[in-house]
Amino acid sequence: MLLNLLWLLLPVAYLAGWWSGRKGAGLAPACKVRRRPSDARSYVRGLNYLISEQQDKAIDLFVGIDRLDQEMVETQLALGNLFRNRGQFDHAIRIHENLVTRAAAHSDAHADALLELAADYSASGLFDRAEEIYGDLLNNKRHADTARDALIGIFEREKDWPRAIRLAEEQQRSGEHYRQIQLGHYYCELAEQAVRNDERETARLYLKKALAEHPASARANILRANLAMGRGDYSRAIECYTAVEKANPDLAPEIISPLLEAFERAGDTRALKAYIRHVRSRNNAYSVIRVTQQAIRRIDGDAAADRFFKEQILKRPSLKGLRDWAQSELDKNKRGEKDKFAVIINMLDSVVEDKPAYVCSACGFEARSLHWQCPSCGTWDSVRTFIGAEGE
Ligand SMILES: [Zn+2]
Repeated sequence: MLLNLLWLLLPVAYLAGWWSGRKGAGLAPACKVRRRPSDARSYVRGLNYLISEQQDKAIDLFVGIDRLDQEMVETQLALGNLFRNRGQFDHAIRIHENLVTRAAAHSDAHADALLELAADYSASGLFDRAEEIYGDLLNNKRHADTARDALIGIFEREKDWPRAIRLAEEQQRSGEHYRQIQLGHYYCELAEQAVRNDERETARLYLKKALAEHPASARANILRANLAMGRGDYSRAIECYTAVEKANPDLAPEIISPLLEAFERAGDTRALKAYIRHVRSRNNAYSVIRVTQQAIRRIDGDAAADRFFKEQILKRPSLKGLRDWAQSELDKNKRGEKDKFAVIINMLDSVVEDKPAYVCSACGFEARSLHWQCPSCGTWDSVRTFIGAEGE
């Protein structure tokens, strides 16, 4: 990290020494160039302090340099950012606050420094202060987009869905950015809150809005299906769950269990059998195979269920499938053989248990349960079922 800092600062040190005072144009009167040879000396001393990790002394020197031309503004912005990236938020805040104070109001330098200061506050958890600055920067042409994105990020973190919706819709209306997926999730969040408060009609209205924003929203359809199950409307539930599967085959493991339950509760064995034939005709994730096998066992008995299981596992082998096959063989074998199967099962158990079931396609974050928003990078709809021999 220190090397990065030096690579960044050395060329500017060169400029500070040789061009000191030649580039003050466009800055506010308060920042006007004063030719001071001591500035260049301070700069070099500041670098020395940085090299020897005496950061407080280095910052004292940098913020004390009188000259505030374009290079100096950029250097101080970058220096503050580097401290922020290293997690040294106090240092970053001190440098950027100093710039905000010194640069003239309404100048680019002032707005740039405000933007970085807000990022420092946000990174250090001072969201109220960050929010205030980003709110002001919404009126700044150059930084309005960044400020809006950052504000939406803060509202998401605070789970302030109404304010996140207001900003995202405002941005969408301006035609600059489309945020259908996010808006769909915000309304789903509100719907889930309503379900928790037992306000089902309100939840239904939010889900309608979620689907108006993002018609293929799997989450909204799952929530709608769950509500339908709750009121005993199984054909509606089947319709919504199958819509999820159709638009997002990856999510089949999430809905297979309630979907088969809806078929069974509806009492329509013909429709259930037709759906099972459809499952049989395709390659399936392991949990889909397992849950369908149980349904077949209830309708057609053990032999049909086991036949289905073997046929599906051969089509798409997985460690979980192998483990369950070994488990089912355990009871059928003689004593000596049983010990061998037990060893295989134990080994497979330890491998399968260590494997994450989900992975974020944006950042590689691994999880044991489905997240609609990646807890690591904050992307929506990026966490997917881990497909492959070691996963589903
Ligand atoms: Zn991620």
